[in-house]
Order: sequence, then C-alpha cells, then structure tokens
Amino acid sequence: MTTPSTAAATAADFDYRRHPDQDAAAPVRHPVVVVGAGPVGLSLAIDLALQQVPVVLLNNDGRLSVGSRALCFAKRTLDIFDRLGCAAPMVAQGVSWHVGRVFFGDRQVYQFDLLPETGHRRPAFINLSQHDLEAHLVARAEQLPLLDLRWHHAVVGVTQHPTHARLTVRTPEGDYGLDADHVVACDGSRSPMRGMLGLDTHGRSFRDRFLIADVRMKAPFPAERWFWFDPPFHPGQSVLLHRQPDGIWRIDFQLGWDADPEQEKRPDNILPRVRALMAQASRAAGGSGEIPEMELVWASVYTFACMRMERLRHGRVLFAGDAAHGVSPFGARGANSGIQDADNLAWKLAWVIHGRAPEALLETYAREREFAADDNIRHSTRSTDFITPKSAASRLFRTAVLDLARDFGFARKLVNSGRLSLPTTLSESSLNTGDAEAFGGALALGAPMVDAPVARVPWHRGDESADAAAARASAAATPAAVVTTAATATDADEATTDAAGVPAATRAAIATTAATAAIVTATAATDAGAQTHAAQPPAVASEPSCWLLSHLVPGRFSVLLFLDMDRRGSDVHELLSHIADAFDGLPAPSVLLLLPQATSPIAQPLTLTPPRGLTVHHLHDKQGLAQTRCDARAGTVLLLRPDQHLCARWRRLQPTLLRQAVLRATAALQAAPVAEELACH
Ligand SMILES: Cc1cc2nc3c(=O)[nH]c(=O)nc-3n(C[C@H](O)[C@H](O)[C@H](O)COP(=O)(O)OP(=O)(O)OC[C@H]3O[C@@H](n4cnc5c(N)ncnc54)[C@H](O)[C@@H]3O)c2cc1C
Repeated sequence: MTTPSTAAATAADFDYRRHPDQDAAAPVRHPVVVVGAGPVGLSLAIDLALQQVPVVLLNNDGRLSVGSRALCFAKRTLDIFDRLGCAAPMVAQGVSWHVGRVFFGDRQVYQFDLLPETGHRRPAFINLSQHDLEAHLVARAEQLPLLDLRWHHAVVGVTQHPTHARLTVRTPEGDYGLDADHVVACDGSRSPMRGMLGLDTHGRSFRDRFLIADVRMKAPFPAERWFWFDPPFHPGQSVLLHRQPDGIWRIDFQLGWDADPEQEKRPDNILPRVRALMAQASRAAGGSGEIPEMELVWASVYTFACMRMERLRHGRVLFAGDAAHGVSPFGARGANSGIQDADNLAWKLAWVIHGRAPEALLETYAREREFAADDNIRHSTRSTDFITPKSAASRLFRTAVLDLARDFGFARKLVNSGRLSLPTTLSESSLNTGDAEAFGGALALGAPMVDAPVARVPWHRGDESADAAAARASAAATPAAVVTTAATATDADEATTDAAGVPAATRAAIATTAATAAIVTATAATDAGAQTHAAQPPAVASEPSCWLLSHLVPGRFSVLLFLDMDRRGSDVHELLSHIADAFDGLPAPSVLLLLPQATSPIAQPLTLTPPRGLTVHHLHDKQGLAQTRCDARAGTVLLLRPDQHLCARWRRLQPTLLRQAVLRATAALQAAPVAEELACH
C-alpha cells in the first residue's frame, strides 16, 4: 500500500537549510512567525507576504500531509485561494462537484444540490487530497520573496514578553532563538505550542471509529457525494463515497467503537466490502452491479472530537486551524474553517503591523473565529449525533426520519449526513455597522461577499493625455506577464503606507527582506476597467478577470457603488471624493462602480479623475446577479473588509457614516483598550 500520490509526490520532501538567523549573536526579531506549514499556516503566510508583511514560516519536518486526510475544499476556500493567487491549478487538478445523494438501505432517499444556481466562478466543492493542496500552496509560497519557509525547524520552546514572544527552534544542527512581535500557532490538533503555553481545548470526544480506504479503480459513477445509512453491504453502519483525481475513490466506513483498527485496515477485510459497495453503487447508478478491478492505495482508521480552545489569543501568540479547534470530518469543516481563520487574521495582522489599526483589531480575530468555531462545532456535533446515534431512541427517530424523507420535504430537512462547510456569517462582530435600512438577498451583514459575473466598462481618465489613454487601452487589451521585484512592490506600498505611518522597524524589515529576495514573476491582473491614481497594490497572480470577487484588491477595503443607468461623471466624482475622505489616513480602498443589467450597450463612457489613491473599477452587472444577491438598488453602497466580509451597507452613501464604519471596522472606534494576558512561561 502506498500514500495516495499524484503530481505533488515530486515535491514530497523538503530539505533542511541553515538560515543566517542561526548564526546571529542574539535572537533575530521578526514581525510575524507562523508555526506549522499545514494548509492553515501556508495560507496565512502567503496572505501576509502578499500584504507586504515579512513572515517566517517554520515546519518541524520536511513533509507535506501524509496519508489521506482532508479531501473536500469548499467554494469559499477557493475564493480565498483566488485572492492568494493559487486557486486555478487546484481547481484544474481537483474533481469539482455539487450534487449529493443520500441512501437508506438499498434505496435512494433524496438528492441535494449545493450550488443549484449559475453565476459563480468556483464550484461548490473540489475534491483534492490535502497532500496535493499543500503542494500547490508551497509552490505559491515559494514565489513570494517576503515569505521565509524553513523546513525541519521545529519550535520546542516559547516564552511571552510584553512586546514580543521568544521561540526556541530545533534543527538538525542544534537550537536557536527567534523573537517575533506576533506568533501564530498553526501546528495542528496536537499543537505543541498549546502544550508549551500550558493551554488546553474543551469539548466532546465521540466513541466511534471510521475507516478510510482510498481505492484506485475505473468506476463509472458521477462526481457526486454518496452517503449510505445502514446499507446492505455494511449493515447497521454508514458509508461515504467520494471521487478523487487520478481514478482514486475515497470510502469512509463507520466501524463502531469496538472495532479493532489493525484488523479493519487489512486489505482482505477492506476489499470485499469495497466490492460489495461497488456492486450496490453500480445498481444505484442504473448498472447491473459490475465490480471494477481495484487497488487499495491507502487505509487508516480515525476517531474524532469536537472541541476548541477557550480563547484564540494569548498575549503575543494567536492560534488558528486545528491547533485552535477540531470537528468531525463530516461536513468538511476542519481545513475549510482553518483557512477562514487565516483569511480573517492576515489582514488584521498586516494592518496592525503597518500601523494602520490598533492592536485591539487582533482581539476581534479571536472573538470572530471563536464564534465561527462554535458554529462549526454545533453543525459537526449535530451531524455526528445523527450519523452515529447513541441510544435506541435516537436510532428509532433516525429510522423514522429516513423513511419519511423519501416522500416528505420536512423530513429531508432533519436528515443530517454532514452539513457541508459554509463560511460563518460574522453576524455578531463588533466590526460591523448594523443595518439602518432593510436588506434582503443572499448576502447577510457579516458574510463574505458573494460572487457574480461582471464585464468591464471602458471609462476615460479626466487627467490623462490621449496618447497615454491609447497606450493604456492597448496594454489592457492583452493580459501580459509582468516581472515585479520585491523592491518595486515594497516601494509601491511604502508610497501609500508612509502616510499612514508604517513603523520604521517594519519598513526596515521589509526592505532587508526585499533586498535579498529573488525576482518573482506574476501574471498581472491587467484590467481595462481598473485604474489607480497612486501606487498599485502588490501584484497577485490571477487570471484575466470577469468575476466580481477578482476586482477586490488584496489587503484593502472595497466600496461597491451601485449606479443609476443615467449616471453622470460629476455625480460619480463627488461620490469618489467622499470615499477618499472616509479613508483619510488609511490605505485607499478599491471602488467598484456597478452598472445595472439593463444598461447595455453603454452609450457614453464616463470621464473620471479619481481622487488620489483610489483604485476604480467600472463594471457591468451583466446578469443582474450582483444586484439580486446583494439586494441592491441604484445608490446602494456596500463596505467590504479586506477579507471580503460585508461590514456595512446603506441605500445611499452618507460620508460621515461611511467614515465611522471604516473606523469601526478597523477597531479604531472601540472604547476600552483590550487587556492582554501576558502570562510568562
Ligand atoms: C480523515 C480526515 C478527513 C478530513 N477531511 C477533511 C475535508 O474533507 N475537508 C476539510 O476541510 N478538512 C478535513 N479534515 C481536517 C483537516 O485535515 C484539518 O483540519 C487540517 O489538516 C488542519 O490544518 P492545519 O494547518 O491547522 O494543521 P495540520 O494540517 O495538522 O498542520 C500542522 C503543521 O504543523 C507542523 N508542526 C507541528 N508541530 C510543530 C512544531 N513544533 N514546530 C513547527 N511545526 C510544527 C506539522 O508538521 C504540520 O505541517 C479531515 C481530517 C481527517 C483526519
């Protein structure tokens, strides 16, 4: 038996390299050290580097995820990876799916569709092994000069100090010290960092075991999630079937608590069960019960618990991913929610480190993601209770529900084979400005922005010569690869952040890292509809865009303005001035000017002179989906955080309210300073 391997197997092992920090006389200080290069640590480090934060990422060994772990990655995760510039190869390699079927015994009870509507760039889910996902993240990390990834550097000690944390790092050549303004522990469910700080998790363990079998075979079934309760080929238990890339199928067999893991993992126990399942699945798909040739490539037995740390922030150390919380694999919430932790934390750390927001913003990371962890644990616990009923009464209830679900919609709502991961709506966040007017639609306050197809609308700059406009239009017509040096990106960022007061030490750290960095090639998001009056934000590799989300600039707030059909340049210019004023002293936002569906063709291009710093995209909501999903009308304004979560909205732009909302969303309006726990160990 081997590890399920695909293209990523070529990058299976990473070497130890000595780092100059190991030869320093005293521990070298860094703005951020991330501990653990799993999916969460990698996502966080990439995000920070893209936001011009130099980041050290330490991993105790040189391996990508071993064996069969996470498989299902949700649309929101892919939207985040698009922002990080690495979703496209994952989607290309993964198996996209959106339909699930639930069976009871040998009959289908019902089927569901996780993304029945069109008009989204990314599918509801892709199936891709955690190993391969991590390989894509490492490939992206290696493109970023500000990201210093050190394999075989294990953290074995941590002490807290008022202004920093000190880490002891163990390598094959001995120990060395590192200081960090902020440490993020992404070191997995057993989290040595948690142990070293004397911290714990609380929750519930489940007395059940599941077998994972990864089997290579040519099976003619569609890319769907199939879940059986009490099937004839595995009576009294449940079974889950998923298709992976490269002709591999993942099967989870519930075993019960008394099962002997070693016995259950034996191929002569597994393969007869898989053959019986295949015969059943073939009949369910309209076949005659054929059984394909098969090869077992991985088998393991797992147990699980739903638990979390009471608080995710402890002095200078923040916790994310499995280190902070755990759920059952049903619902695919582990890695997906951990990557949302990273999404939430990256911009907050960047804004605090660059001096754009107070440290209180970091406390909101803890509050928001503790809330999200509870949400995930609640869903996961309900699913687990339904899948593994613990009493005769709850089994009776389940049987009744499954019987009724074939014919009655109300009973289907009670069937729970693992409610699949959706992003948590941060409805209680102190960073939100409550709605003063009624809003419907799919987008709730605190939720991440929903995607929609858009088309770019040409517009003229009022302050641009005819020659410059022609040159820009021609460059924009052909998306091109550009070469960006770290120094260029740094200079560009300095131009904006200087005004906002980036601490000198951080600037020096950025400059030092940038000076030694290699040249990175990125595909420019060349965009005929996007123009900025000041420095461009850091380049992120992306495809030529025709989706709303790809116009949100990483690390920046975004303002969406839904315009009238008869919008006039002077009115739009006034709105842009108000927006620029609202962000006075802060990095200017990305502004999306959205024209409604009916406005086609565009008769008269706008002529605009955007106030300094604003990046303006003029877009056509070509199917009207942005408007519907946001319940927007002409005049509606949405304020999105850098992690794309909606934090305020109005039916008309009101400059004072916008300014207040921006300050609230950066924790600058919060009254009391947050007490930090600085227990020294
Ligand atoms: C059977 C199974 C199926 C699953 N299916 C799904 C799914 O479909 N979808 C989903 O979203 N989730 C799923 N999960 C959960 C998912 O695997 C985890 O949530 C995910 O791996 C968490 O990522 P992480 O980066 O927080 O931690 P990990 O992936 O555990 O990474 C931690 C990293 O920290 C490193 N490390 C540890 N100690 C140190 C140290 N002292 N110093 C430096 N580095 C250190 C480790 O080497 C590792 O690289 C599944 C889990 C299991 C077990």
